[in-house]
Amino acid sequence: MRQPLIAGNWKMNGTRSGAEALIKGVLEGASLVGRAEVAVCPPFVFLDAAERLLAGSPVRLGAQNVCTEEGGAYTGEVAAAMLAEFGCRYVICGHSERREYYGETDEIVAKKLAVTIAHGMTPILCVGETLQQREQGEMESVIAGQVDAIMDRNGVASFAQLEIAYEPVWAIGTGRTATPEQAQEVHDFIRRRIAGQDPAIAAKVRILYGGSMKAGNARDLLSQADIDGGLIGGASLAADDFLAICQAGDAVAG
Ligand code: PEP
Repeated sequence: MRQPLIAGNWKMNGTRSGAEALIKGVLEGASLVGRAEVAVCPPFVFLDAAERLLAGSPVRLGAQNVCTEEGGAYTGEVAAAMLAEFGCRYVICGHSERREYYGETDEIVAKKLAVTIAHGMTPILCVGETLQQREQGEMESVIAGQVDAIMDRNGVASFAQLEIAYEPVWAIGTGRTATPEQAQEVHDFIRRRIAGQDPAIAAKVRILYGGSMKAGNARDLLSQADIDGGLIGGASLAADDFLAICQAGDAVAG
C-alpha cells in the first residue's frame, strides 16, 4: 500500500505572522495524523521560519518552485541547493499556474525535476488538462504528453524518485472538483502509461489529486485505488480544514 501524502500548496498567500500561526496550527493537530504523510509548501520567504517551527515534527517542508540552474546570475530565482539547505523535502514542479503564467514548458519542468532530485529532494510533478481540452476529448493525449515528456527526457527511472499530482486545471481554485470516478480514471491512465515502460515503478509512484479537495470530498477521493494523496491549495490555508483532509488520508490508509 502506498502511504498517502497530503501536501499543502500555500501559493502566494500569507504574512510572516500568519504563516507562523498556520504552521503552529498544523503542528497542533499533526499528532492525530499517524498514517498519512503531511507536508506544507509555504512561499520561499517563509521557509526559514517554517523549518525552525517544524524541526523534530513529522510534518515535512516543501517549496513551490525551483530554478533550473545550479546558481549564479539568475536574478529572482532560488536554487535547489538553497531549498535543500532550508530543509525542503519536496518541490512542486510544473504547477499549472507556472505553466500558464510563466511559460513553463515540459522541457523546463524536466530540468526542474532533475535539479530537485540531484539535490536529494523529491519533486511533485504536476500534470493536468484544461476544461477546453477535456471537452474536446483531449484529456488523455494532454496527460500522456506531459508524462511522456518527462519519461523521454529524464528516463522512467526518475519516476522512482518523484511524486505526481494530477490537477485538472478546471478544478484548481474553482470549487469544482473532479468526481472520484473522473479522478480515478486519470490516475489509472497515468499509472498505466508509466507501467508501459516500467511496471514496478508504476506500482510504487504516488499520484496525488489536486483541485478543490476539501474536508467534505477528501475521503471519497482518497478512497480511490490510484489516488495516493492530495495537493491542497485553498483548503491548506486554514489549519483545521487542512488537518481534516490529513485525517481523511489517515482513515483511508488504515
Ligand atoms: C493547487 O493549486 O495545487 C490546488 C489544488 O488548489 P485548490 O485546492 O485551491 O484547487
